[in-house]
Amino acid sequence: ELSEAGLPKAQVEAMTKRETDRYLQSNPISQKLGQEARRNWIKGVPHHWMLDWSTPFPLFVADAKGATLTDADGHTYDDFCLGDTGSMFGHSPEPVAKAIAAQSSHGLTYMLPTEDIIAVGSLLENMFGLPFWQVTTTATDSNRFVIRWCRAITKRTKVLVFHGAYHGAVDDTFVRMKNGRAIHRPGLIGQVYDLTTHTKVVEFNDVPALEAALKDQDVACVITEPALTNIGMVLPQPGFLDALQSLCKKTGTLLVIDETHTISTGFGGYTRTHHLKPDFLTLGKPVAGGLPTAVFGCTADIAERMRAAEKEAGPGYSGMGTTLSANALQFKAMRANLEHVMTPAAYAHMLPLSEKLARGIEGEIKKRNIPWHVSNVGARAEFVCAPERPRNGTEAQAAMHGPVELAVHLYLLNRGLLIAPFHNMTLVSPVTTEAQVARLVTTIGQCLDELAA
Ligand code: PMP
Repeated sequence: ELSEAGLPKAQVEAMTKRETDRYLQSNPISQKLGQEARRNWIKGVPHHWMLDWSTPFPLFVADAKGATLTDADGHTYDDFCLGDTGSMFGHSPEPVAKAIAAQSSHGLTYMLPTEDIIAVGSLLENMFGLPFWQVTTTATDSNRFVIRWCRAITKRTKVLVFHGAYHGAVDDTFVRMKNGRAIHRPGLIGQVYDLTTHTKVVEFNDVPALEAALKDQDVACVITEPALTNIGMVLPQPGFLDALQSLCKKTGTLLVIDETHTISTGFGGYTRTHHLKPDFLTLGKPVAGGLPTAVFGCTADIAERMRAAEKEAGPGYSGMGTTLSANALQFKAMRANLEHVMTPAAYAHMLPLSEKLARGIEGEIKKRNIPWHVSNVGARAEFVCAPERPRNGTEAQAAMHGPVELAVHLYLLNRGLLIAPFHNMTLVSPVTTEAQVARLVTTIGQCLDELAA
C-alpha cells in the first residue's frame, strides 16, 4: 500500500515509531524539564510554536553558536532551521554579540534615538534602494502598520493576499481561498468579525484572477512574498511578478513586498536581486541578528503621501507603534548585523553552499526514483514530497504530507540534524560548513533508503 507521498505507508509508520522511541530514550533531561515546565506554562511551553516539532516533547536547548546547537542532554546538532530564519546568519554572530554586550550596561530602551540611527538608515537604503524607514519589533508589526498606511494613503479599504500566504499574526491576512472565494483561515481562535469583508484572495501565479480582483480599484495594497515560503515553496512563474507590478501600477494599488524569508535570495533580498520596485518593503526576523527587530521601508513618493494622510487624519492616535520599538539595543544589534554579518561576502558563502545542498538532496531523491523535488530561493531550500513544482497555494498544500515529514524530521533530529519543523525547509548560514551540508545530504539518503525499501 502506497502512502500519499509515493512511499510505502508501513515503512513510514515503522520509522516514526522507532524514531519516537529513540527520541524518548536519548533525551531524559529534556523530558524531565518538559514535565516540570507543565507546572507553570500552558501546555508546558512559553510559546505554543515550540510544540510544532515532530518530537513527543520539546527539545530543550543548552547552547547555540554559529550553525551548531547543543541540547540539554548534551547532543549537538547541525542547525539548518536557525530559529526559522531569526538566526539565519548564524547563532550569536560575533559582531552582534559584542555590540549587545557593549550596550548592555548603557541603557536598553529610552524612547529616544541614538546616533546609530544615522548609520542604520543609510545601511538600509544602500541594501534595499528605498530611502525612508521605520523600525518595529516583529515582522508582524511591520506588516500590520504598512497595511494601515496603505489604507490611509489610498483611501481604499481592501487588501489582497495570495492563497497560502503568511505574513505574521496580522488579522487582515488570515484568509484562505475556497471555491474561488475568501474564507477564514481554518483554526483561528477568537476571530469575531468577518475578515473577508476587507480582504480579497487569489492564487499566486494567476494573472487573470489578479487582474479581475484589482480592476474595481478598491484594493489598497497587495501584500506578498516574491516567492511563497510558508506553504512549502511556490516560486513565481516567469512574468508573474512583472504582471503583478504593472497591474498594481495600472490600478493605483500599492505593492508591499514582505522580504522576511526571501531575504535568503541574496544581498538586498529578492527585491534587489530581481529588481522589483515595491512601494513598501518589510523585513523582520534576521535583521538584527536574532534580537526582536523589524523594519519597513518605502519610496520617497510614498513617504510624501504618508505625510499627507497623516495631516488629513488630524491630531490623535495613529494606531501604530509599540513602546520598545527602535530601542538602543536593537539599533546596536542591527548596525553590527548590517555592517558586518548580512553582507555580500556572507551571501557569497551561503548561496553556492545552499545550491549544493539543494542539488545534493535532489540527487538522493532521484537516485531512488522517489517522486519528490527540491526548490530553493537562495540560501533557503526545501524538499517537497510531490513530483511537480506547485504553481500556487492549493497545489502546495496538496504536496504536504504530514506523516512522511514527521518521520523524516525525527530521523534527522535523532542523528543531530535540525531542519525547520514546518514543512521541509533548510537554511544555510554564512558559518554553515561543507561538512554539515554533506552530512545532511548523506543522512537524508539513508533515511530515504529505509523509507523506500
Ligand atoms: N512574514 C513572513 C513572510 C513570515 O514568514 C513571517 C514568520 N514566519 C512573518 C512575516 C512574521 O514574522 P514574526 O513572527 O517574526 O512577526
